[in-house]
Amino acid sequence: MPVNTKTKIGKTASGRRISSCSKCYVRDVCIASARSTGIDPAGGHLICTNGFCGGRTQGSTNAGIYGGTLNKRNYSRESEKIMEQARCRGEYPRLLLHSCCAPCSSHCLELLREYFQVTVFYYNPNITEMREYEFRKAEELRLIREYNAQVERQTFDGMHSSPAAGKIEVLESPYDPGVFMEAVRGYEHCPEGGDRCGICFTLRLQETARRAAENHFDFFTTTLTISPLKDAERLNRIGEETAEEYGVAWLPSDFKKKDGYKRSIELSARFGLYRQNYCGCIYSRQKRTDSAKQ
Ligand code: SF4
Repeated sequence: MPVNTKTKIGKTASGRRISSCSKCYVRDVCIASARSTGIDPAGGHLICTNGFCGGRTQGSTNAGIYGGTLNKRNYSRESEKIMEQARCRGEYPRLLLHSCCAPCSSHCLELLREYFQVTVFYYNPNITEMREYEFRKAEELRLIREYNAQVERQTFDGMHSSPAAGKIEVLESPYDPGVFMEAVRGYEHCPEGGDRCGICFTLRLQETARRAAENHFDFFTTTLTISPLKDAERLNRIGEETAEEYGVAWLPSDFKKKDGYKRSIELSARFGLYRQNYCGCIYSRQKRTDSAKQ
């Protein structure tokens, strides 16, 4: 991935000062916004606060160094900054959102449709039973229809939405559980949250990134970070590595933050969404069955 070696400072047609980040491929950083967050040009290079590098190079892990201080990243704040930047520029970037299920996507979509042209990518070969897969997918599509009807009617009662909310599109993907079974061969007995899940996240994010690049999206991300059971740091790290590999920008996320998980439960109840009691693969389902017997 090419890295800018020089900060380019210029002006938009409206006279707003803009710049390009010197470390990542985010362009047109709004200087006023960057300064308001305390980041100034350093050594002639402006380091953007958009979350792709945040002062770090692509692919780095959870800790960055600002002035010798070790910082833990706040992915939720990083995504907010990207959204602020987009609004600052009057843009609605195209986002490919990997979704695992309707309940998890409910809050993510409510939030993201305010800032992005969102397309949902339901790619989950980890769901190893076709009936379960189809049911979760049908619920996802039903939720999207409900949200789009709100936009058409411009009525958002009880929603955290504004007239800026856009309609949501869907990108189809075939159901292929064999890909997952092959990928996790030898990792069947890993505990939930272990190496098998890392492979599962990578599989799904790689395909999302590939489709995002193929279809010229500006960003891709996943609803998976809304789950308190999933490691947002790990998901963001995989997302960033995958972004580098496919040349499409990763939108950092930690959707559970700011009561995001709580909001997803409220929205699930409001729309009567099916909330499964296991993650998706046969191994996670077996674990739930075993736990219920004890
Ligand atoms: S438990 Fe969930 S994240 Fe882990 S491998 Fe199974 S489906 Fe994937």
